[in-house]
Amino acid sequence: MHRDLSDWWPSCLHNMRDDRIANIMVVEHAAREAYYCSLKKDSVHLAFSGGLDSTTVLHWCARLFGEVHVMMFDYGQRHAVELDIARAYLDKHSQDIQSKFDCKIWPRKVDVGIVKELASSSLTRDNIDPPKDQTEEEMLSSVPNTFVPGRNIYFMTALAQGAYAYNSRHIAMGVNILDYSGYPDCRPEFVAKMRDALSIGIFNSDSAGLGVHAPLMNLNKSEIIRLGMQLGVSYKDTHSCYNGIIGGCGECDSCILRRKAFYGLGLSDPSMSDE
Ligand code: ZN
Repeated sequence: MHRDLSDWWPSCLHNMRDDRIANIMVVEHAAREAYYCSLKKDSVHLAFSGGLDSTTVLHWCARLFGEVHVMMFDYGQRHAVELDIARAYLDKHSQDIQSKFDCKIWPRKVDVGIVKELASSSLTRDNIDPPKDQTEEEMLSSVPNTFVPGRNIYFMTALAQGAYAYNSRHIAMGVNILDYSGYPDCRPEFVAKMRDALSIGIFNSDSAGLGVHAPLMNLNKSEIIRLGMQLGVSYKDTHSCYNGIIGGCGECDSCILRRKAFYGLGLSDPSMSDE
């Protein structure tokens, strides 16, 4: 009943490539259209970091849902500046997004400091440096030390708890398996298993009890940016650097993937521009 939107995403993306998708609810099947229209009466809980991916999903959720509960997770991350940038993005753009998509945005900071306490990672330990200047082959050759074990388990659990509290059954994340850093908890099999566990353990339902929306799962970074531009994302105001450097350090995996994606579209990274 609560199908994942990613089920039909390829057909939607196809339309977008043709530049004909001014309205992403225009799909070929009437039943689908009715389903997605019904989402405007519902709410979704979104994990939001102010980065390229989750900001795209913020706009995507606003387009489809009537209310977007935005959770910004404070887990003691090295790049804690992302929380300030995430908040600044909402302060600057929420009003426009709400007007444009006829939705309401509810921001909320969530403390999951236990992640820093327990998880060893270069994003949670000052004495471990994130890798520098890696090629994509090197990024994918092993799980990098920027991986935070269990982070997405906490995030998805918190999102599902929030959804339950608001009598909703939808959560959303910006995870994807292409152009990512090789994190095991960004893979579709992990997301599907978590959906099953949360459906059973929180919603007392079968695996379809919770809608886990991961619309970027099968998109590469350039496709994500193209989608976001259609949805009005201001990438200039997003931030993705693991080192927490405004405008990007240019050396960490996140900066490298982000710049390559803009370059692939014939663009420069707008967060780097003074214009
Ligand atoms: Zn960086």
